[in-house]
Amino acid sequence: MATDTYVGSVDQGTTGTRFMVFDHGGNVVASAYEKHEQIYPEPGWVEHDAMEVWENTKSVMNTALDKGGLDPEQLEAIGVTNQRETTLLWDAETGAPIANAIVWQDRRTTDRIETLEDEGKADMVQQKTGLEPDAYFSATKAEWLLDNTDPIKLQRARPQDVRERAEAGDLMFGTMDTWVIYNLTGNHITDVSNASRTMLFNIHDMDWDQELLDEFNVPAETLPEVRPSSDDETYGSTDAGGFLGAEVPVAGALGDQQAALFGQTCFDSGDAKNTYGTGSFMLMNTGNEAVMSDHGLLTTVGFQRSGEPVQYALEGAIFITGAAIEWLEDMTLIDDAMESESVARSVDSTDGVYLVPAFTGLGAPHWDQRARGTIVGMTRGTRPAHVVRATLEAIAYQTKDVAEAMVEDADIDLADLRVDGGAVKNNFLCQLQADIVDTNIVRPVVDETTALGSAYAAGLAVGYWETVDELRKNWQVDREFEPNEDADYSKEFERWHDAVDRSMGWAQDDDE
Ligand code: ADP
Repeated sequence: MATDTYVGSVDQGTTGTRFMVFDHGGNVVASAYEKHEQIYPEPGWVEHDAMEVWENTKSVMNTALDKGGLDPEQLEAIGVTNQRETTLLWDAETGAPIANAIVWQDRRTTDRIETLEDEGKADMVQQKTGLEPDAYFSATKAEWLLDNTDPIKLQRARPQDVRERAEAGDLMFGTMDTWVIYNLTGNHITDVSNASRTMLFNIHDMDWDQELLDEFNVPAETLPEVRPSSDDETYGSTDAGGFLGAEVPVAGALGDQQAALFGQTCFDSGDAKNTYGTGSFMLMNTGNEAVMSDHGLLTTVGFQRSGEPVQYALEGAIFITGAAIEWLEDMTLIDDAMESESVARSVDSTDGVYLVPAFTGLGAPHWDQRARGTIVGMTRGTRPAHVVRATLEAIAYQTKDVAEAMVEDADIDLADLRVDGGAVKNNFLCQLQADIVDTNIVRPVVDETTALGSAYAAGLAVGYWETVDELRKNWQVDREFEPNEDADYSKEFERWHDAVDRSMGWAQDDDE
């Protein structure tokens, strides 16, 4: 009979679902991953089949335990982390989704947001939710599902009664954390960080907001109970007679970026992390204060432990960072992402070249849907290596733009910046980032910070870890990049902004 115990984390992401098992030291002891189908019914629409996601969740949990030679009884708790904002409605009685989930990337409700703006309601929404109104968040997706779901697909449905059934409490609304928690425990629950991304939740009152529910026509009867991200009461337990074959408490949940903040042990005001994946998400803990941004950042719930006040965060979303490296590969300027490092090092500078990777517009802090990718400053002597280096510099400049906005909004100095994600394997990028932001860039040993964060939330709740200090001790530096004293990118940073100006407003209609 094995005696070691662990904490598991379900990481329900955009492209797939992972289950990871962590030990006391925060080390990964078992892991399994499965992709799910991306469904594109129309241009700009993105959907997931929630039943497929749940089947995959069960499968990765069992596979990881099998591969690790672990008994489910050895799990002391399970945490959940998830792609944020993706929205689903299901039948409260049968548990069957009434339609595919609408994924965060889906743009079908853009017009609805424009109407909201035309009606002068954007400020009201932003004041209450901390969010810049956008189709990205759950509210307009839920409204769309309630207005457009084919009632024929509803179990035992009579035509036209989707809204009626929602108002009667026969339908449940949820983001993917809620879906996973519901299927694991039978309870209809979300955590505060995920609630804060719905655009239906008042982050000051920390409750669903009736004015927003009325605006977006979402009946309160459909909403999950909102709980702390790390909850001593637990959200419920798996069923000993169920797929896992053990009764394990589900005790923590965090949206993916908030989970990374937690996994990077950014527990105090001023602590910040940046995740460099396809795009980048920088979050800074602002303590118990919800700092409203004057610079195009989102104000969001960072996390909450039961019995403690909420910790808020400022968030800057950069659409394209690692994806710009993928573009270099597509253009055959490099063979693979790793090669971007040696190619960039092969030249001393970009030779005056600036690349703005605004392939899908610009996010924080510039926010321009019509910006497009731009390369400026080329001469007859420009070589592929200059463009490759300019791309890495662009990733670092974009992060500096967000970091400066955060420091100004929060009036907090950035002590150091903890980094994770696929692109931080690139040492050149990390050093460049330190030089350009003029702060220490710290890369931890465990780079699975998202799954780790939700495991921490769940493990703290059940006492697997007693204090956050234990978690801080687990957090080990792989490498720290200090700003090089001789490095001075101030002139280049000014020129970067000239390049950004030239990229803006390029697309003439939304289809370009
Ligand atoms: P996501 O979670 O968004 O899918 P990952 O965290 O897995 O992303 O990171 C993948 C991204 O990292 C890709 O866009 C890839 O181009 C980029 N990447 C991977 N290795 C490197 C590298 N050595 N240098 C720069 N970018 C890299």
